[in-house]
Amino acid sequence: MKLVPVSAISAHNYCECQIILRYVRKIRAWTPKISKGISVHNTLETEFLKKADISDTIENIVARAEKENAVFSARELFVRSKDERMIGKIDEVEIHPDKIMIIDDKPNAKAYESSKLQVTGYCIVFEAMHSFGKDIFGAIRDRDTGTVIWDEKFESKGELSEKVRQNVSRILDLASGKASPRPTDIKTRCEACSYLDNCTYRI
Ligand code: SF4
Repeated sequence: MKLVPVSAISAHNYCECQIILRYVRKIRAWTPKISKGISVHNTLETEFLKKADISDTIENIVARAEKENAVFSARELFVRSKDERMIGKIDEVEIHPDKIMIIDDKPNAKAYESSKLQVTGYCIVFEAMHSFGKDIFGAIRDRDTGTVIWDEKFESKGELSEKVRQNVSRILDLASGKASPRPTDIKTRCEACSYLDNCTYRI
């Protein structure tokens, strides 16, 4: 692994053994919950595309938002930064005249630290790719109700950003075998884990 998928940050915070199972042993977890998640995600994407009426670069959209004092949205935005060693796809980016919102959709969304770190990871990569001179906000949105349940101004040198960068280093060390994974010591996490049947680390 050369670049860390931003979604791996959330998995790493749940239990770092998931990094070994998913990215080293290449085990694909498949549960009814995951299957439902993919289906809802695809429906949101299809609904968005039905209403989408612009195909343009993000740079042009940012300029239009300012000029027309309007809000635009882009979904499934691919982001990648070699310097920040991360890669990913942002669920939705809202481009306002004065700010940019990076939104991650979660089922039964709660403001868990793992979710905050994941969305902060997207903000880091987005900022590394674009310098629009606008404030960037990270937001977690409940996928089922469409309600934003947490948002915060992104700070590149803030506590969440520093934790993301530490997580990225650790994930790369785990994936390369430089570090050994520490299994969670929370039994209920193992019981709810989608890798349970394939995990040799479980409690
Ligand atoms: S089953 Fe337990 S130890 Fe294994 S990956 Fe899941 S949470 Fe970690």
